[in-house]
Amino acid sequence: MITRFAPSPTGPLHLGHAYSAILAHDMARAQGGQFLLRIDDLDQSRARPEWEALIYEDLRWLGLDWDGPVRRQSEHFDAYTRTLETLAQHGAVYPCHCSRADITAAANAPQEGVPDFGPDGRIYPGTCRGRNYADRADTDALRYDLSKTLGPASRMPTFEETGPSHAGLHRVTAEYLLTRVGDPILARPNFAASYHFAVILDDSCSGVTHVIRGEDLFEATYLQRFLQSELGLPPPIYHHHRLIRDEDGKRLAKRDDARAIAKFRAEGASPQDIRHMVGL
Ligand code: GLU
Repeated sequence: MITRFAPSPTGPLHLGHAYSAILAHDMARAQGGQFLLRIDDLDQSRARPEWEALIYEDLRWLGLDWDGPVRRQSEHFDAYTRTLETLAQHGAVYPCHCSRADITAAANAPQEGVPDFGPDGRIYPGTCRGRNYADRADTDALRYDLSKTLGPASRMPTFEETGPSHAGLHRVTAEYLLTRVGDPILARPNFAASYHFAVILDDSCSGVTHVIRGEDLFEATYLQRFLQSELGLPPPIYHHHRLIRDEDGKRLAKRDDARAIAKFRAEGASPQDIRHMVGL
């Protein structure tokens, strides 16, 4: 079993991160497996070395040791670009210059019960589908044309989920992707890859067998699993865990410094106290 914890160095780790990291670490160790650490620093405008240093400090203090060198997404931008170019040769990657405002304006009038937003942002109405990859400008994003790539239901990929809320085998459906996700972004201007595209390549390159992460990413798994299958990557098993919430039931966010691990540590809490606070 190879698990990973993949924080972004854009703020302090809080109790939600602690829970995710402890689960991924403990599940791997219980099986004699490996626990990897990845720094998700795709967004170089927000990543800071001091936050990265604090991630190492917090994890070590929690007693979580990771195997091998840390993988930084920023060290693999060339590889993301090369994979994108290979995928583009299949003819389904197109440049898109639509701004959020363009997409909102072009989207059909909202229908009751039909979501406007999916795990990849506002569902894209396909405005730029006719454009060629070769005509990409620096200010364009790259999208994947679902209308060209979705196969018959029986050929759509599946994934296994072991988390408490959605345990079982899930099949990605064309209908789900078309109506709930829309043509996904593979790279934005000034970014080597989108989160969904980078994460599947990272997990595959590192040999991750079990992706353990928060339930907020469960829906995104359908898209990530689809992109994996398009690239012929082997699927990991997924385990989406419950989210740590504040007293008002809201899930903790990056800016929630009040629940930062470093703050509890400074106030004299022990790693065991943190485990108790997150219900372990
Ligand atoms: N860097 C991502 C996050 O912090 C990782 C998500 C994932 O585990 O796939 O949300």
